[in-house]
Amino acid sequence: MKTLPPGSIIGILGGGQLARMTALAAAKLGYRCHIFCPDDTEPAVEVSAFHTKAAFLDGAALETFVASVDVVTLEWENVPLEALLIVGKHVAVHPSVEVLRVAQDREQEKTFARSIGVGTAEFVILRSAAELENALKTFPFPAILKSTRMGYDGKGQVKLTTDSDPVEAWRTMGGATGILEAFVDFACEVSVIVAARADGAMATFPVVQNIHRDHILAETHAPANIDPKAAEEAEHLARRLAEKLGVIGLLAVEFFVLREPDSQGRRVLMNEIAPRPHNSGHWTMDACSTSQFEQLVRAVCGLPLGDTTPHSRAVMYNVIGDAINRWPQWLQEPKTSLHLYGKTETRAGRKMGHVTVLKGHW
Ligand code: AMP
Repeated sequence: MKTLPPGSIIGILGGGQLARMTALAAAKLGYRCHIFCPDDTEPAVEVSAFHTKAAFLDGAALETFVASVDVVTLEWENVPLEALLIVGKHVAVHPSVEVLRVAQDREQEKTFARSIGVGTAEFVILRSAAELENALKTFPFPAILKSTRMGYDGKGQVKLTTDSDPVEAWRTMGGATGILEAFVDFACEVSVIVAARADGAMATFPVVQNIHRDHILAETHAPANIDPKAAEEAEHLARRLAEKLGVIGLLAVEFFVLREPDSQGRRVLMNEIAPRPHNSGHWTMDACSTSQFEQLVRAVCGLPLGDTTPHSRAVMYNVIGDAINRWPQWLQEPKTSLHLYGKTETRAGRKMGHVTVLKGHW
């Protein structure tokens, strides 16, 4: 495979904090980044060499952008596929349109997972409130209704009990197509980040445990405090997903850990995938010699993948909304590293930064 030497330019679709931290990691290895995003106040813009301010479907802007870069990656899986098709005509894009097509749609994601032997919650796909009402006659409660597309941080999701009104639930969900999922009574939630190169070489970061509050990731604990057999299974399944999808770059896979193995002997069920850096991998910046962001740069530029063995245990806390006002306090804490994203506007629920606290030897 082709190796892009330092000095090359990496194009990134999207300009949020994931692109910002990718650009910083790219700079460390001597690469420059060109950010393509609709807004020039986004976090990645101020730390990158080049910026194109344009909508993702602006074909002329995309053509100019690709002419200036050596490879393209992305920080958001909902970049329109049409944009990727334009870019892909001129330069390598990692992850590919095929990977994105699966990752953008919960139906495709779960159907694909099951087709390669990765377990998920039971689900049915619905296209109207009437179909929901009908499905609820036999579907077990409690259940969760989600929009199949564009959902994140719990948006477009409704928990359903026997008292729920299907018409109201369908309206709250808000999507054109819904996925009704069995509620998994999980012991905890974990995730795995896999990096893959074009030649098939792979490396995974250790399985970590995630705690959500108000549907937003609040804390990541590395390593996950789970049965080693469950951790092994999660890692194995994440690698299988990355391999069968043909990912080049990163694949983050979120799992529910079951309280005990199910009737098929499964200890974990996949919840969702993201073919990009993931919030649950931010701790790697401070506790591993290669961060998830550097690993992405290495994978898409054809460099050898870095060592993923952590030197420290760690807990990552997201800095959400007004919590950013506590920044002076974190600067005084021992073994604590503060990362702020440079966002000019603080809003409730907005990720403003994160803090990693090292917890001793791995
Ligand atoms: P998602 O947007 O699918 O990642 O869902 C956000 C969060 O909702 C997950 O991290 C879980 O905490 C919870 N959740 C989603 N789906 C289920 C499910 N089928 N059973 C139980 N909890 C769920």
